Amino acid sequence: MTGPRPEPFDAVGVIRIKRDRGRIPDAEIDWVIDAYTRGVVADEQMSALAMAILLNGMQADELSRWTDAMIASGERLDLSAVSRPTTDKHSTGGVGDKITLPLAPLVAALGGAVPQLSGRGLGHTGGTLDKLESIPGWRAEVSNADFVRQLNEVGAVVCAAGDGLAPADRKLYALRDVTATVEAIPLIASSIMSKKIAEGSSSLVLDVKVGTGAFMKTETDARTLARTMVELGTAAGTHTVALLTDMNTPLGLTAGNALEVAESLEVLSGGGPCDVVELTVALATEMLAGIGITDIDPAEALNDGRAMDVWRRMISAQGGDPSAPLPRAREVDVFAAPSSGVLTRLDAYAVGVAAWRLGAGRARKEDPVSAGAGVVMLAKPGDRVIAGQPLLELHADEPDRFERARQALDGGFDISNDSSAGDGGTVALVIDRIAADSAR
Ligand code: URA
Repeated sequence: MTGPRPEPFDAVGVIRIKRDRGRIPDAEIDWVIDAYTRGVVADEQMSALAMAILLNGMQADELSRWTDAMIASGERLDLSAVSRPTTDKHSTGGVGDKITLPLAPLVAALGGAVPQLSGRGLGHTGGTLDKLESIPGWRAEVSNADFVRQLNEVGAVVCAAGDGLAPADRKLYALRDVTATVEAIPLIASSIMSKKIAEGSSSLVLDVKVGTGAFMKTETDARTLARTMVELGTAAGTHTVALLTDMNTPLGLTAGNALEVAESLEVLSGGGPCDVVELTVALATEMLAGIGITDIDPAEALNDGRAMDVWRRMISAQGGDPSAPLPRAREVDVFAAPSSGVLTRLDAYAVGVAAWRLGAGRARKEDPVSAGAGVVMLAKPGDRVIAGQPLLELHADEPDRFERARQALDGGFDISNDSSAGDGGTVALVIDRIAADSAR
């Protein structure tokens, strides 16, 4: 009889190294991630290690090894059968961030293949899959074979990540959520990049958001996260660039699932809010440059209908009806401007929480979301408003949600009666670009 294989290391020893600010040796990194995935390292031990990492950080090569070990915990997608160069985007999440919807078909229309594995939303930021699931018939689940086929035939797939991709991350992320260790930058960077690298795209553009509605509240933290992820991607052989973008104000004029799909359709028809168009074009330019496609203006493919054609094929390929009417919430309540003047601030976090309370988001992974719920912004910072004029529309299926949504908006905007307010001082949407040569 042979017993279980003896473990080469013990978790207490690994925790002690990081507690004492040491560098965890490669073999012990490989072991602790693998043993945690197998259930040999207990949750309480991994919690202690995550907290030690939050407090003491990780060296660059240590983090790169940690990320590799997370990737090795699961499968790596093989995209070698995809005939076009692959290029993807990841956003760290924000309010009204529907950019993937126009972006993926736009990049596909211009010669790239976009293999995007997305998630559902949790908390005040919406998830791309929740938005797409508001389209009648659309399915988020796609088999590996169909994934490759759709990339070849349509050029873009946005679908749910299977369980096989970086399973160590799924376990660790859930643990971080309940141990106050989500904020550790090395753990965020390795979590995001392990999934993105395992997805197998040759090029990756990161949209790292900074501001009240983002994960990263300060520019310093957002820059550190962006640099760390660019270094990890580059070390793994993925062409990686990050844009640092503002998330103090919601993107576009809608926050909510079907509402954001409708706004994306406006962008794909050559219209839509300027900020959504600007960011879509900026990210498309980077995604295409990453695969060597330069000297083109992506805006043209929004204006001439090429991106819309790909959108329709992308939605149909996953069972969706691109011509079907989108769901609408049963009730609409108007939030009026309390005074006259210039709207100088509309806080992304406040609008995100309001949309969430209206039913657009979920508090727990298993909660359903309402397809039609959300917020429509009738004014944005810089606009002049008159007391009593509708400022926001609140959409919900149940009217008893309005009160709590209104409470979330309390203090979430400023109206100045100084006639010069709002002129000048406009915050740039794209704050900076961070590439491998500027990452250090
Ligand atoms: N998103 C992820 O996938 N992981 C993190 O740690 C944070 C945000």
